[in-house]
Order: sequence, then C-alpha cells, then structure tokens
Amino acid sequence: MIGAKIKMMGDEPVIECLPCPQCGEPTVIKIDDYDLERFKAMSKGMLVGQAFSHWSVQERELLMTGLHAQCWDAYMGPEPDDE
Ligand SMILES: [Zn+2]
Repeated sequence: MIGAKIKMMGDEPVIECLPCPQCGEPTVIKIDDYDLERFKAMSKGMLVGQAFSHWSVQERELLMTGLHAQCWDAYMGPEPDDE
C-alpha cells in the first residue's frame, strides 16, 4: 500500500511521504502534473511500478514506505545485487 499523500503547497502539488522507518524524517517531494496524474491512477488501482516506472526503485520506496535512498543500506542491510 502507498503511505504517501498528495498535498498542495501553495499551488504546487507535492507528495507527502511517511516518516522514514530508519531516521524518522518525513519527506515532501515536489511533483508535476504528470506525476499527479500517475498518483491518481495509482489510487484507482494501478501498481506503483507501473504508475511510477519513470522513478527509480529508491524513489518508489520513498513513496511507499518513506524510506530514504540514503537510509536504504542501514535499513535494508547491504544488498549484493545491484539494480
Ligand atoms: Zn531516512
């Protein structure tokens, strides 16, 4: 499930992510209209990997759980496979 929510910051849409499970800091990602449409498609059942295929694995992880790319190793442990 997606933990992130869309908010408006002024007239700019942003995605407000969950607090990072590693460091506890929430992240706000500025998005454009395209990403906003993708996010809406996801709330209608599109998979995150489909909706945000143009985002990296780490960015999609941020969207789902709030985990930062820089907290990834500490949280997940070293990963021998590269993407
Ligand atoms: Zn973090």
